[in-house]
Amino acid sequence: MSKKKVCILYTGGTIGMIPTENGFAPAPGTFAKELAAIRDLSSPRMPDWDLVEFDPLLDSSNITYKQWNQIAGAIESRYDDYDGFVVLHGTDTMAYSASALSFMLEGLSKPVIFTGSQIPLCELRSDGKDNLITSVLIAAQDVVHEVCLYFSNELLRGNRATKYSSDRLIAFKSPNYTELAKAGIDMRYRKRAFLEVDPDQPLTVRYLRDTRLAVIKVFPGIKFELFTPIVNGMQGLILETFGSGNIPNYDKALSNLIDEASRTGAVVVVCTQCPQGAVRLGTYEAGSALVNAGAVSGYNMTTEAAVAKLQYLLSQDLTREQVIELMETDLRGELDK
Ligand code: ASP
Repeated sequence: MSKKKVCILYTGGTIGMIPTENGFAPAPGTFAKELAAIRDLSSPRMPDWDLVEFDPLLDSSNITYKQWNQIAGAIESRYDDYDGFVVLHGTDTMAYSASALSFMLEGLSKPVIFTGSQIPLCELRSDGKDNLITSVLIAAQDVVHEVCLYFSNELLRGNRATKYSSDRLIAFKSPNYTELAKAGIDMRYRKRAFLEVDPDQPLTVRYLRDTRLAVIKVFPGIKFELFTPIVNGMQGLILETFGSGNIPNYDKALSNLIDEASRTGAVVVVCTQCPQGAVRLGTYEAGSALVNAGAVSGYNMTTEAAVAKLQYLLSQDLTREQVIELMETDLRGELDK
């Protein structure tokens, strides 16, 4: 039987960074040498793998829809040549990128595993080696067929993950959905939690366009009228509200803001700022203004998934009504109603 083949896409991020005068930064051409020094990666029990280094390499704070298109394009052009893909990415925006790719890669039937590390490979105690090796092994197994994020012994659905800690090695959580696998002595997959895929459906990549989005986090005393000028020209607005979708109703300022957004064609999506749980619009009087103004429920989507999904939908030739309907529809296992 021929060996499985995995493609490792290195986009940047802490895992391959080296120390510079201004702090850790990625450096072109150094990562391949670091991988060559990891003995496990050349074990005969490992699948064959190739490394594709992106240019430029980025700290993931600089990722935009352009890199999401670049990652999707790199997968599309190599799709038939590999059994699976590992995307090495900075942790800061990994949950956004994994969410975006989950929507862009329609008909995906191979594993795409995002990973990285909190400590660079070149430093003592790096978590990068285990994250990388386990991700390559998962990508070579024909078990999970969706966009995932592997970190510190847990395999999470990409569009359910959120960066939870800036300094712990367990950096990600999936607060509203079970992990897809746990890595102990063995890999324990929860197959019932997987997305159902049709292996006969071809991969279709939906590339993203530049879109005008904003995320506003509600806080006590917020003056919504300050935001009205920026709403003009916006295509999508995500409100991170209190609890199950509540906002202050002490004046009409939010209604004005949403009216303005709707008048200019923007889609307003309501997420919760609670890490866990869902939006239930209309439960409280304090959230009824949102319902009356035609805001869309984000249910229990993470803000990361909502941003990525809105960008994906707004990049297609859909009517505003279609975008609204699809925002509230579960497309890739990103929400529960
Ligand atoms: N700033 C880094 C990045 O996101 C952090 C990391 O990779 O952990 O690229």
